[in-house]
Amino acid sequence: MKLVVLGPPGAGKGTQAAKLSGELSLPRIATGDMLRLEVSSGTELGKEAEGYMRRGLLVPDEIIIEMVRERVSHDDCKGGFILDGFPRNMAQAKTLEALGPMDLVIYLDAGEEEVVERLVGRRACRECQAVYHLRFSPPKADGRCDLCGGRLHQREDDREGVVRERFRTYRERTQPLVQYYQAKSILEKVEGLGTIEEISRSIRETLESRGLI
Ligand code: AMP
Repeated sequence: MKLVVLGPPGAGKGTQAAKLSGELSLPRIATGDMLRLEVSSGTELGKEAEGYMRRGLLVPDEIIIEMVRERVSHDDCKGGFILDGFPRNMAQAKTLEALGPMDLVIYLDAGEEEVVERLVGRRACRECQAVYHLRFSPPKADGRCDLCGGRLHQREDDREGVVRERFRTYRERTQPLVQYYQAKSILEKVEGLGTIEEISRSIRETLESRGLI
């Protein structure tokens, strides 16, 4: 099964894609995570990508497309995969199409103010990458991860100015993909408002209604 999770930054794509990945035993391919790993490892690719990420802009297609092409060629992707954060523009969508048809695009919808509130309060563990929210799921001890005790930090691109820029980038470059996949009849919209469990249930119902699970 080949799935795409599409939606604005902060809609919960990462959370839901990770959950689905566990439930369906499919690898999650998260381009944002892959890029952050390149940046923290100080690779050439990371150095090139960093400036765009810090400003809330899309990393150039040649970098990202090659990264995804390479990743989906691994053996663990033979039975399918879940794309989280890719495609983000029309050129990426066309490349993906050339790699084979997708079964479903899950469109997680959320509005700008909601996204800003979610992302600005988000904190991640430096050690194990667990994610918290200062208001919605605060850690037990201030600034420390419940799971491993690691230090929590705010992603540089989760500061309000950058979040608004990311949202603008999303609206201009990524949102047109909603119509694109709608026209192919492989898009299902799921409301991104609600608890993690509620949203996850809606996604599973959608997969069931499409006969995918
Ligand atoms: P994310 O964690 O998915 O919000 O991605 C963080 C940042 O990585 C984005 O704001 C972009 O700068 C970059 N990025 C992630 N995925 C892509 C993609 N498919 N195309 C271009 N840039 C991307």
